[in-house]
Amino acid sequence: MAQNDYETVDVVLVGAGIMSATLGVLLKELDPTLKLEVIELMESGAIESSNPWNNAGTGHAGLCELNYTPPAADGSIDIKKSVTINTQFEESKQFWAYLVEQGIENGSFGSPKSFITPVPHLSFVRGQEGIDFLKTRFQALTKHHAFSDMEYTEDRATMAKWMPLMLPGRDPQEAIAATRVMAGTDVNFGTLTKHLLHKLSTQPDAQVKCKQKVNGLERNGQGWRVSIKDLQNGGQRTIQAKFVFLGAGGAALPLLQMSGIPEGKGFGGFPVSGQWLRCDNPEVVKQHEAKVYSQAEVGSPPMSVPHLDTRVVDGKKSLLFGPYAGFSTKFLRHGSLLDLPLSIRPNNIGPMLAVARDNFELTRYLIKEVMQSDEKRLKTLRGFYPLAKTEDWRLEVAGQRVQIIKKDAKHGGILQFGTELVAAQDGSIAALLGASPGASVTVSIMLDLIKRCFPQQVKSEQWRSKLNEIFPAMAEVLASDAERYREVQARSDELLQLNEPAMA
Ligand SMILES: Cc1cc2nc3c(=O)[nH]c(=O)nc-3n(C[C@H](O)[C@H](O)[C@H](O)COP(=O)(O)OP(=O)(O)OC[C@H]3O[C@@H](n4cnc5c(N)ncnc54)[C@H](O)[C@@H]3O)c2cc1C
Repeated sequence: MAQNDYETVDVVLVGAGIMSATLGVLLKELDPTLKLEVIELMESGAIESSNPWNNAGTGHAGLCELNYTPPAADGSIDIKKSVTINTQFEESKQFWAYLVEQGIENGSFGSPKSFITPVPHLSFVRGQEGIDFLKTRFQALTKHHAFSDMEYTEDRATMAKWMPLMLPGRDPQEAIAATRVMAGTDVNFGTLTKHLLHKLSTQPDAQVKCKQKVNGLERNGQGWRVSIKDLQNGGQRTIQAKFVFLGAGGAALPLLQMSGIPEGKGFGGFPVSGQWLRCDNPEVVKQHEAKVYSQAEVGSPPMSVPHLDTRVVDGKKSLLFGPYAGFSTKFLRHGSLLDLPLSIRPNNIGPMLAVARDNFELTRYLIKEVMQSDEKRLKTLRGFYPLAKTEDWRLEVAGQRVQIIKKDAKHGGILQFGTELVAAQDGSIAALLGASPGASVTVSIMLDLIKRCFPQQVKSEQWRSKLNEIFPAMAEVLASDAERYREVQARSDELLQLNEPAMA
């Protein structure tokens, strides 16, 4: 078939989760003339990891996550990762605030209360070692302007006010401590994704197509020929795109492999599924208004950090506790058990075997998690909420996190718990691998993608001035300039209505 027989677009975004939705809206803001198509295999967007019940909805800002500030051998604390995540989350907030402000003028975006809610972020530790760590962390973090409002306590009466469910029934001799930051948030990334997709689909030359699956990628002189299967009516179509983003969540890896780009060689995926205990009993739910993060067990991976969370989804409050890890060979919650075996290639089998060899602790942890009984899960919950009643909690399945396996000169292969953007050298295709810290820092990840894949356009006056309009201050400025941080945060908080009382 001749080249001209294909529909031609500038941008194809594979998958309709928070990543593609964010990139699509950002690109259309920068260049409204771009012709763009989002292709989603499910019946709507935000069904996989971006669905509110498939993730914890924590607006990760480094306020409560103890694994972002691991202690060094000498006991000191490096706060770099917390500062980075915090200021990247402020980039996300600036983008959402910009969209909300525009929406006030022309109704193009949903209300902030539908997707972001102020919920204090707390860290909670037990035992003297944990207390020493938390105090050192508190002293290190509060020197930085992003964390100057953090409070610390070892006083049980104060903790009883901060987290009323967590003190009654606890051994009075148990040594405990907590920190609190009132400026934390719960984010419904599903509703946010839907607002973004709606905004996109109401613009000229932008379409969101569901029940369609990308099943072929072929490079040619003009970019990429993308093959798409129509899952509703059957049939196959092909579109020609100058740029393709593989925002397919856990399924980005097989698509990256399908593209055949050399930059994608050697990557593998290790899926870890999640489960939560969920409580909707209003009598219990109303007693906890916080996200309380603690420390992961020794030998367990960072995403297993236990937390007791207030969730606000579609105007209703619930509590989530977990996550409990599980093992499944699927790359998506609605994926296939063959996903993992089919992703094994001659170029990634070495790194995958090296990871299997070097991560015995992780394997042991996963086996223990998979084998654990309901009673054992409740016992873990009772370490947080001692008087938790079995009948108030039910087990729910969360999303899949496909951790990155990549080549490593020293070990042969390593397991990486963050995210990684893999882009072709010519910038014509990019894939997002990995899961954490995820949705909270989507905007920073997509800004990085734009710089790498649209280097010429980013230098243009049009793109530069639009970026300055959307982002009054980027993460690096926010990290170093206390006054600017406060100004920009105050403006975002006002537009996102985060200064108003948290919840009824
Ligand atoms: C248990 C858990 C807890 C988490 N907690 C948090 C948290 O508290 N805070 C936070 O910020 N982040 C959290 N995350 C991470 C966050 O959920 C993800 O980073 C984010 O949702 C990823 O968005 P995405 O758009 O990349 O993927 P997804 O939302 O998974 O979207 C990918 C889409 O691609 C589609 N797709 C796949 N293959 C194809 C194909 N071939 N053709 C067409 N469409 C395709 C899928 O159907 C899906 O809709 C958590 C994740 C998990 C699993």
